[in-house]
Amino acid sequence: MTNEVLVQADHLCKYFKLGGGRMLHAVEDVNLEIHRGETLGLVGESGCGKSTLGRTLMGIYKPTKGKLVYGGKEIDLTNKKERFAFAKKAQIIFQDPYASLDPRMTVGSIIAEGMEIHGMYDEKKRQERVAELLDIVGLNREHANRFPHEFSGGQRQRIGIARALAIEPEFIVCDEPISALDVSIQAQVINLLHELQEKMGLTYLFIAHDLNIVKYISDRIAVMYLGSVVELATSDELYANTLHPYSKALLSAVPIPDPHKEAQKHRQIIDGDVPSPINKPKGCAFSSRCPQACDKCRQSAPELREIRPGHFVACHLVEG
Ligand code: SF4
Repeated sequence: MTNEVLVQADHLCKYFKLGGGRMLHAVEDVNLEIHRGETLGLVGESGCGKSTLGRTLMGIYKPTKGKLVYGGKEIDLTNKKERFAFAKKAQIIFQDPYASLDPRMTVGSIIAEGMEIHGMYDEKKRQERVAELLDIVGLNREHANRFPHEFSGGQRQRIGIARALAIEPEFIVCDEPISALDVSIQAQVINLLHELQEKMGLTYLFIAHDLNIVKYISDRIAVMYLGSVVELATSDELYANTLHPYSKALLSAVPIPDPHKEAQKHRQIIDGDVPSPINKPKGCAFSSRCPQACDKCRQSAPELREIRPGHFVACHLVEG
């Protein structure tokens, strides 16, 4: 990991219009920096806005407010040329390796498609690149002529990874890339992503709900609740000194491999449901479920503040 900021969310918001003039606030005022060569883990309950944030950071969704900055330059997604150039730098690996590959295309065409769109290489060189990419992700070169349905889930995810790598991106959003896979295959795919990062200097945003995997793969971790980042720290710091009440509850649910320690562990249950992103509560978004909520929490939303070097928390009650 370097100190160079590759991707930056600057007060980034993404809202979706619903019927009846209502608005769904999926991502709310997110400030985040991702450094070149790092893996930033993004965790939170389902529906908290993780995938929407990932898709906004790679230009699939246009921000409603705020800026997406890449390599120090704001990306204007309304500009077709700029959007096209950015699409070559940022790619995504999807959660579902079954739905994300076109069943009518051969594996070779799926991997080569991005190179064709971006005018990379002639046909012969593209075929050579497809063969190289199949080697890199641990598949056979002959697989280029087969169709996705002939492969297992783990193999399909390797095809998805080869497709993402084909146009030589710098930044990859890994959107729960292993959650649809067998546990036995998950480690293989994680190790492959790790090796590729080392070899190619890739930068990852790794979205997941399995906190053990996120800890293993991430340099830093951001915890999201109802569209906002509530805590951000290095993996070791977050697990050793969890500060936000929501992160504490989330991490207390992670099983410990030692059965003795697991039996003694105090698990914090969060009461109530996640409030609707259509009618967000006033003040701290977590106040309706937080055991420590006070009047101030219900009146004003806490800012994400640096409490100790590199450790950011959005909570009125956490002091530096
Ligand atoms: Fe809980 Fe208040 Fe902190 Fe929000 S600001 S997490 S409600 S203590």
